[in-house]
Amino acid sequence: MSDGRIIKVSGPLVIAEGMQDAKMYDVVRVSNKNLIGEIIEIRGDKASIQVYEETSGLGPGEPVVSTGEPLSVELGPGLIESIFDGIQRPLDVVRSVSGDNIARGVQVEKLNKTKKWNFEPTAKTGDAVKAGDIIGTVRETSIVIHKIMVPHGVEGTIEEIYSGEFTILDTIAKIKTKDGIIDIQMLQKWPVRKGRPYKEKLSPSTPMTTGQRIIDTFFPVAKGGTACIPGPFGSGKTVVQHQLAKWADAEIVVYIGCGERGNEMTDVLMEFPELKDPKTGEPLMKRTVLIANTSDMPVAAREASIYTGITIGEYFRDMGYSVALMADSTSRWAEALREMSGRLEEMPGEEGYPAYLGSRAAEFYERAGKVVCVGTDNREGALTAVGAVSPPGGDLSEPVTQATLRIVKVFWGLDAALAYRRHFPAINWLQSYSLYLDRLGDWFVQEVAPDWQSLRMETMRLLQEEEELNEIVRLVGFDALSLKDRFTLEASKSIREDYLHQNAFHEIDTYTSIHKQYRMLRAILLFYHEGQKALSEGAFYKELTTLPVREDIAKAKLILENDIESFDVLEAKIKDQIASILSKGGN
Ligand code: ADP
Ligand code: MG
Repeated sequence: MSDGRIIKVSGPLVIAEGMQDAKMYDVVRVSNKNLIGEIIEIRGDKASIQVYEETSGLGPGEPVVSTGEPLSVELGPGLIESIFDGIQRPLDVVRSVSGDNIARGVQVEKLNKTKKWNFEPTAKTGDAVKAGDIIGTVRETSIVIHKIMVPHGVEGTIEEIYSGEFTILDTIAKIKTKDGIIDIQMLQKWPVRKGRPYKEKLSPSTPMTTGQRIIDTFFPVAKGGTACIPGPFGSGKTVVQHQLAKWADAEIVVYIGCGERGNEMTDVLMEFPELKDPKTGEPLMKRTVLIANTSDMPVAAREASIYTGITIGEYFRDMGYSVALMADSTSRWAEALREMSGRLEEMPGEEGYPAYLGSRAAEFYERAGKVVCVGTDNREGALTAVGAVSPPGGDLSEPVTQATLRIVKVFWGLDAALAYRRHFPAINWLQSYSLYLDRLGDWFVQEVAPDWQSLRMETMRLLQEEEELNEIVRLVGFDALSLKDRFTLEASKSIREDYLHQNAFHEIDTYTSIHKQYRMLRAILLFYHEGQKALSEGAFYKELTTLPVREDIAKAKLILENDIESFDVLEAKIKDQIASILSKGGN
């Protein structure tokens, strides 16, 4: 192994000489403090190392030893409900070893090696198996069944398979391969920078519903799709990411807090164990893996946190699950890349970011997808990736936002003006887009309602019309508008306030199923259509717009999920009240 020596320390970057035997991306141990780093450049016998721990106090002459292995994650039972740092050290274990501040160089087990899990075999002696085949299961939490797969590179027949209580290091099966008998453990390792293999990438065709009305109705993301949420400080990126982590229709959630404030992670940690999954009634934490690389942690580990997270996501995808991964914020990762690139004195690209910013971002998002998993049964899995982007000053033309928009298929653009008016989620409905809409259309028609598409298109048209009418009002004044146009403005106001606006912190409003979304929208448009008709038949504008049922429409967000009949009552009320003003005559 290399007998390296530090020759220079520059923040998180350490340069060492005598590293001729080391390879690119090898993990190294730096100084006697044993700090963990990764080689990111090699020239001759000199290696540039990004160190994932605080480097203050390090100096030339101290030893650097390559482990000869790439940065890898440990995969197996014990991932769910864990909170890891960027290099998969479980924070609770680190804390118990070193107190509140992460001591440097602490070596802790990534996954618990002594805990016993009940392994139930699903394969039997004599079965021919190959990589990816599921040979047994472990109930990891009350909602997650962890599937134990034959590791990559192994193929043969099962010689022996056991059942009962095992640690992840115990042998649970023996497989006879052409190179002899191999002991299989539940623990597997995977290098984080390398995407886990799959058989085939499929075109995403089902939405990952989120319970957030503006997202599901107008800008849905597909299971296996990619989305980004750019927005200035305070516009609601973190709240949207948290909402997705809570309510997204996914079997597994991986949440990466990357370079953001620590208290936001604390919010997640405090809240998640309390929150119940609407479908299973179980705590949401029981399907969640958290990775916390907060702003007070070393910058270089931000990149590791992204890769660690996506690799864990792929692993659960490989079991055939639908996984949702959230990263908040990818800008902090990009800033870390910029810092390292600057210290490496690489040729800077736009605004000092390295020229490979775009390709790095693409590599990350390309690991999302709906796939046919490796394994004989051809099961399908999906990994959906959603990244927050924090453009300085909210300027979307900056490099990280632009690089991201070139890759992802959904854009939820947060708008400072909306946030300022406290219209949340502050997703701008005229600028945002989803490139999955066409592909998901059939699903909505089949699963929700035949008139779903026309309803959503008409709603969007009303919102666009509002923009045009407002322009006219600005130019020639409100009085120039016909009653019909004024009523269009009323309807679009109702769409904004009664539908798009959604309070993440309200017990009921925080989540709206797709069926309830449909009924809410239908009620709002019913009022609009019946109202327009009444106006053309001579109803008084004032009477129409002050009908008490409008209050009921505004409150429809609070109708309970299991009380969909209340929408029938609401629709009947809308028709009745409008009919009553018509029978009185008007205008
Ligand atoms: P960012 O991450 O973009 O800096 P946050 O997600 O922290 O912004 O949001 C800032 C604040 O805006 C929140 O603390 C909350 O008060 C408010 N907010 C954002 N989204 C919502 C929402 N959907 N419902 C209610 N309040 C929200
Ligand atoms: Mg935030």
